[in-house]
Amino acid sequence: MTAFWTEPDFDDHEMVHVVRDRASGLMAIIAVHSSHLGPGAGGTRFWHYPNPKDGLRDALRLSRGMSYKNAMAGLPMGGGKAVILADENRTKTPELLAAFGDAVEALGGRYVTAEDVGISEADMVAVSQRTTHVSGLPVSGQGSAGGDPGPFTSYGIYLGIKAAVAHRLGTDSLDGVHVAVQGTGSVGGGVARLLAKDGARLTLADIHKDGVEALADELGAAVVAPDAILATKCDVFSPNALGAILNEDSIAQLDTRIVAGGANNQLARSAHGKVLFERGILYAPDYVINAGGIISVATEYLARREGRDATRDEVNALIEKIPGRLTQIWKKSDADSISPDVVADRMAQELIGRG
Ligand code: NAD
Repeated sequence: MTAFWTEPDFDDHEMVHVVRDRASGLMAIIAVHSSHLGPGAGGTRFWHYPNPKDGLRDALRLSRGMSYKNAMAGLPMGGGKAVILADENRTKTPELLAAFGDAVEALGGRYVTAEDVGISEADMVAVSQRTTHVSGLPVSGQGSAGGDPGPFTSYGIYLGIKAAVAHRLGTDSLDGVHVAVQGTGSVGGGVARLLAKDGARLTLADIHKDGVEALADELGAAVVAPDAILATKCDVFSPNALGAILNEDSIAQLDTRIVAGGANNQLARSAHGKVLFERGILYAPDYVINAGGIISVATEYLARREGRDATRDEVNALIEKIPGRLTQIWKKSDADSISPDVVADRMAQELIGRG
């Protein structure tokens, strides 16, 4: 592997830890970008990278993203990420997960892990047999927070859309506001249901035709083909499927006043934030609006360290701060004529002591 500090994604990361366990076949990279606000927290990705260098890049890029996201979520957590370099067959054994758990434990709490792409709740339960520095575990108690972060993410996005509508359209009501929802899975489906309750007019698109049609029937929504959702004339376009959805081509197609949704890394390149801004489209920075899930996961972890369960009420109270944070970003963006994604990045950098 090359020296990680020569990678373009290296951003003064505090720790890049390579883990190898021959017996189980584990090969992993654990990166902590910043622990200024607390332990480096972020999920573990299990992925086969034909070129391991791409795994290193993911660990560097995603751990930095977690620093920004956790800081803007108001959490006492820094940014971290782990990448398990899976073999071609994506062999995942109990021994491999145990060895990964041991590696996390050996870091003594500098890194706190959870699920990410390729890692299930059951995998995290296996990891938790070897380390306490883990979150995203199932909960059974009624009123307890934790478990699937999807509904918490949806709730934050719903509140963020309401804030965007208030800021850009000047109304506190969603009644009749037209929202085009791309992706109606765990997050997008939850957002659509919450918006429907407030009387929003919905147009939905998903590559899973049956699922999206059933949801549209339930909510009285319209459905368009996946390739038609971007150009749908609406008040709010809400991307809840893929990353890198906002590029020159797609932004040119948009017929909306607002982009606010849960997908991670929506801007194909950072310059696309400016393209949206110059088109007069209000953008809700993805890592600010979609923080509901990490707020739930982190609160669950912090409460467990105090020997108790986190409650839904305490998680929701933190999620309810998302709209205020977005409004602060938009006001600064308006005042300084700088796109909201850049304002958010600068605020996050200040919070982690790198302003
Ligand atoms: P999911 O797999 O449950 O849902 C994604 C949906 O998008 C699926 O229904 C899929 O069919 C659909 N889709 C895929 N390609 C599409 C396309 N081209 N057009 C329309 N629909 C398409 O995943 P999710 O958990 O809902 O996550 C959605 C997005 O939100 C992802 O980008 C994820 O990284 C991000 N996110 C999720 C959470 C969370 O708590 N689950 C938290 C933060 C960010």
